[in-house]
Amino acid sequence: MLKIKYPSNLEDSYYDIISKSKADKFKGLTFEEYYNRHYKKYLIYDLKDIFCGNFEKLIEIKNKIGKKDDNKIKSFFNYDKTKINNSSPLISKLQPKISKFFQENIEVHTCYYCNIDFINTFKKNNETKNAFTLDHVLEKADYPFLALSLYNLVPSCYVCNSKVKDSKILFEFSPTSKDFDFDESVKFKSFISNINLQIEKEQDFYIKLIENYSNKYDKYIESLNLNNRYDYHKYKVLEMIQKRKEYPDSRIKELSNLTKKTQKEIKQDLFGIYTSEDLHKRPLSKLIKDISEELDLL
Ligand SMILES: [Zn+2]
Repeated sequence: MLKIKYPSNLEDSYYDIISKSKADKFKGLTFEEYYNRHYKKYLIYDLKDIFCGNFEKLIEIKNKIGKKDDNKIKSFFNYDKTKINNSSPLISKLQPKISKFFQENIEVHTCYYCNIDFINTFKKNNETKNAFTLDHVLEKADYPFLALSLYNLVPSCYVCNSKVKDSKILFEFSPTSKDFDFDESVKFKSFISNINLQIEKEQDFYIKLIENYSNKYDKYIESLNLNNRYDYHKYKVLEMIQKRKEYPDSRIKELSNLTKKTQKEIKQDLFGIYTSEDLHKRPLSKLIKDISEELDLL
């Protein structure tokens, strides 16, 4: 649900990592040379477009080429070491190279799909390990030629990637796209279900993601089961509602005078609010920001 920020000039270095790779089965050719000789006539596009085209370009390529359940394409654009119908992939070491590239170039703190789990990197015996998986927005089973495409890969948690995301629902929007405005368009809202209109416990209310003015993200929310998964995290909202009762604006003003901090700083300290720029850094930060807006803290 949070847009991925990419450093500039990322595409050339990503392209080089894969296109210059060699494998025994390529008979001395690079990935790019092998592609141009054996695959380009079927797939039409330049390899650079396939690997580094932006998300809108990938949609265009997907629509033009269509679904391909083709073992030759699957074993060439192989993302991991799994055998395809008992035939080994042509090249087998790309996945660790791609993971390393993401570790070094993209900020990975929490899952870009759910913002519930940490997906950070850590050290083990001086080696950098990671807790993220790379999800294929456009499914590699249907579109194997997009299995290695930079903007088809979303650093995500295991739950989103392997347990939840509904592969039958096609994403038209992706956190990899520059037009991805989920954070601006869709907000968490709380709704009181208690008949006395009091919020004392978690059963007194529910939370839901609500989109302003359109419903373009409905499928996205449904596919990732976000509303049901966030139901568990109502505790955070309840904590904030209770804390807000203890800290009305008058109390925040007093604290501000006392500590010489601005009221905004006091609110951030008390409620742990992150700015839009930093939402991906901490779990539940979008939930906290949206509910902060509801509670007139922002
Ligand atoms: Zn996730």
